[in-house]
Amino acid sequence: MHADEVLSLGLGVTPPWKLVGQRLDTDKRPKELHIEVAADRGARFPCPNCGKPCKAHDFGEFTWRHLNFFQHHCYITAKVPRTNCPDHGVKRIQVPWAREGSRFTLLFEQAAVILAREMPVLAAARIIGITDQRLWRIIEHYVGQAVARLDLGRLKAVGLDETASKRGHNYVTVFIDLDAKQKPVVFVTPGKGKATVAAFKAFLKQHGGKPGHIVEVVCDMSPAFLAAIGETFEQANVTVDWFHVVQLFTKAVDDVRKAEAKHNTMPKALRWAVLKAADGKLTTKQAVALAELEATDLFTATAWRIKEKLRWIRNAKTVQAARWRITAFIRHARSRLAGEVLLEPVRKALETFERHLGRILQRWTSTHANARLEGLNGLFQAARARARGYRNTATFITMIYLIAAPIGNLFDSI
Ligand SMILES: [Zn+2]
Repeated sequence: MHADEVLSLGLGVTPPWKLVGQRLDTDKRPKELHIEVAADRGARFPCPNCGKPCKAHDFGEFTWRHLNFFQHHCYITAKVPRTNCPDHGVKRIQVPWAREGSRFTLLFEQAAVILAREMPVLAAARIIGITDQRLWRIIEHYVGQAVARLDLGRLKAVGLDETASKRGHNYVTVFIDLDAKQKPVVFVTPGKGKATVAAFKAFLKQHGGKPGHIVEVVCDMSPAFLAAIGETFEQANVTVDWFHVVQLFTKAVDDVRKAEAKHNTMPKALRWAVLKAADGKLTTKQAVALAELEATDLFTATAWRIKEKLRWIRNAKTVQAARWRITAFIRHARSRLAGEVLLEPVRKALETFERHLGRILQRWTSTHANARLEGLNGLFQAARARARGYRNTATFITMIYLIAAPIGNLFDSI
């Protein structure tokens, strides 16, 4: 095999195209390898509309950035014909090494997307020497195509949760397949609440899924979500994720702490100690703060102790045991809360808890894994980090799909 043929294969250049020239521009930093590609003289080209072989009408010169050749940037230049089809007129043809409208070769784009799967987009863009905006456009193209091909025909159980791309701003709602062990994300949409459930239903239908086949939905306790899910997925049991129960009471403890801190001296480092996830590792300071809190008769301590009882409930082995523990928990909590104004947030949390008891208990009878939503926080953090520097709702959504949707076949369409 001739050296030019090897290079042609590597470039994705196939007949009638062939390599006709190469030159290394040593004046540029980094150096640039320029490769010239041309079609055989007299070759006919398929009309982009009907594929009929046509003569070239005229040629236009285009250049594409290609994978680096060792440390040199590499460009391909070719004169690309317009065909003159008797039925479709004059049209620019597609070249086999790049997609329409792109100034990069397919191999360059693939390498760029693969890199962006493994590291922040800003860093990937620096390594390959393009702007992050350009890299985002490439990623959005391939992710968009792969998401369009998602097959949701077998989806039976979904979990959903909302998060913000920036603190308190630009919410997105994420839907996951509860039966998927890896890459569980099946749909991400801007916004939160009721409208997102309708958007998911439409997406599901477009992707071969059936709303009537959804037998379980796991979510939080927001009334808007719950109402929308009930109307949209009539066959589904709605389960409230335990994670959201813990969140509910954690927020209540924090509200009590804030109110009480106005008039009392609180242990230092208490805020984060109280907010940390139930099984999160505490720093020494935080552990000390909690130990101090336990020893006080602050209202925050009462609220904290009530919240901590949730662990005991969660460890129940059967739904009967869980129900019994919950009854005891509610009775105990009420006796502690009686008449104490500062504990109002906990009383409210308890009311919400009781209102959703049926859906909360469902976790003990469900056949689907339903402790999945908690794990989504790690995914959200990773997506935020990858999109750093150019983060908006669209890039955040794209990154969630890229990291966690089952779109392994990103380049199938080419
Ligand atoms: Zn034609």
